[in-house]
Amino acid sequence: MSHFSFAIHTKMLFNEMGLDPRILKGIEAMGFETPSPIQEQFIPIFLKEPKDIVGLAQTGTGKTAAFGLPILQTINPANRVPQALILSPTRELCVQIAREIKEYSQFLPEIVITPVYGGADMGAQVKALRAGTHIITATPGRMHDMIRKNKVDLSHVSILVLDEADEMLNMGFQEDVDAILAMTPKEKNTLLFSATMPKEVAAIAKNYMTNPLEIAVGKKNSGAENVEHIYHMVHAKDRYLALKRVLDYVPEVYGIVFCRTRQETGEVAAQLIQDNYSAEALHGDLSQQQRDFVMNKFRNRGVQILVATDVAARGLDVNDLTHVVNYNLPDDSENYIHRSGRTGRVGKSGVSISIIHLKEHGRIRMIEKSIGKKFVRKPVPSGKEICEKQLFYLTDKLQEVTVNEEEIAPYLPAVYEKFSNLSKEELIKHIVSLEFNRFLDYYGSTPDLNIPDGHEERRSPRVVETEGLTKFRLNVGLAKGISPKEVINFVVEATGRRNVEIGRIDLFGSYSVVEVEDAAGKALLRNSRGMSFRGTFFDVEVFEENRDDRSFRGRRSGGYPRAAEGRTDFKRMERKRRY
Ligand code: ADP
Ligand code: MG
Repeated sequence: MSHFSFAIHTKMLFNEMGLDPRILKGIEAMGFETPSPIQEQFIPIFLKEPKDIVGLAQTGTGKTAAFGLPILQTINPANRVPQALILSPTRELCVQIAREIKEYSQFLPEIVITPVYGGADMGAQVKALRAGTHIITATPGRMHDMIRKNKVDLSHVSILVLDEADEMLNMGFQEDVDAILAMTPKEKNTLLFSATMPKEVAAIAKNYMTNPLEIAVGKKNSGAENVEHIYHMVHAKDRYLALKRVLDYVPEVYGIVFCRTRQETGEVAAQLIQDNYSAEALHGDLSQQQRDFVMNKFRNRGVQILVATDVAARGLDVNDLTHVVNYNLPDDSENYIHRSGRTGRVGKSGVSISIIHLKEHGRIRMIEKSIGKKFVRKPVPSGKEICEKQLFYLTDKLQEVTVNEEEIAPYLPAVYEKFSNLSKEELIKHIVSLEFNRFLDYYGSTPDLNIPDGHEERRSPRVVETEGLTKFRLNVGLAKGISPKEVINFVVEATGRRNVEIGRIDLFGSYSVVEVEDAAGKALLRNSRGMSFRGTFFDVEVFEENRDDRSFRGRRSGGYPRAAEGRTDFKRMERKRRY
């Protein structure tokens, strides 16, 4: 006999909550078996006696259904006026909520749900509203616009939802939200949802809600329970290299790499794409059409890695992320919670990896405090570990591949013939090497990126690696407005090699210094003649000769300069290909 004792969990089922059978049929069709904790608490309470409720639950806990199902139940389909208004911070969320509720109500086809959001033709949206609707999902900006232009009647709204309230405030929608609330009837129920409860959200609850009931699921302000929080500490200049290793170590990664700015997002994505990763960028500079394209591609797993800003990724409804990578830590803990909440959703385990540099150690401690969970510091996977991982991934793939017996049969005799002199063992070696060599080539000689233990808080000396690289001096500098990116473009263009390895770039007033791999040096010198930058012809000369390669001796023109004004420490760009 074992001595285990276990609590009998009396979980309420969807069909015990008093939901309409047609709604039950809808959620069954969607494959929902049991309610999530917030649904289990929220739905029966609200159906029994509608009231103002503040729902606090982590991302991915099913808040949409928590408010969506009771809303469907209270709609009177015969009255084709907006009876519920759901505000959310982004167009994507707004569309997604509408889509999700539409799905719950697939057996209640008479109920109309209309999304209303910025960045799209208002005329068409007004027309849709005029045609009659029961539920509006809207972004605050567009809704406020419509109110000002007198295009929408909110006088019959009996339920108002503020979804992702914290983010709506972060995005500066306070004024719009105020104006919208003022246009809704006094007699209504206000439901506020948020993953976290900063004081601004508490203030909204206090100002606009009547004795709200607070339902909190799990610990407040905590990341999803089943997420492992890991961090790697590297020098800031190695951030991108560390990211590559993190991704290479998980061949089947399906995740989001979070960056802090649009620019960083664009750069990291471009670099990953150039290095042959399956990646796309998602940020506010994209057109609506591009965003839709990227999101769909990611949703359909047409791309493995999405590089995104917090705002752009907010509300993206993708459930099975294996990893969230924080290329840079977010500015506040709440965004960290949102980010890491994208992995480890409903019952799945997930991993949130942060790449930090020496000075960010304290930020990790702060986030730990606020989520009440410990981060584990792990070393960046070494080249050897990555090669191993990729090797076994490859062997698994070989084992699992579907063999189309019939189609391949005609070719086999010739193929067998070709390999007749190889033993099975030799043949396996050849097949595996075919792919494995590429990782070996890349990682065979790369240094360890980890900062040794005990060096966390100390600033370690900067080591500039110049092996295999030669410094070139360009006659164009900051005065002419050149940027590191333009230096790179120039080198790529002059050498004609998209994957040319470029090291450090230093910009000075009247000139720049760039490290370029030795093998491309001659082409750079030869082809730069005749190329120009904003009206100045490039003049390139060798600045400091590399110890190991004397072939440029004749062009040597001096020593390494002392850093002058405008010196830019530019991360070493790794331009080798990933296969
Ligand atoms: P939140 O708004 O809390 O971040 P969502 O409402 O977007 O979470 O739900 C996250 C995902 O979980 C959605 O894909 C949704 O369809 C799914 N989901 C919601 N409730 C359930 C449930 N009871 N069982 C299974 N999946 C669910
Ligand atoms: Mg939500």
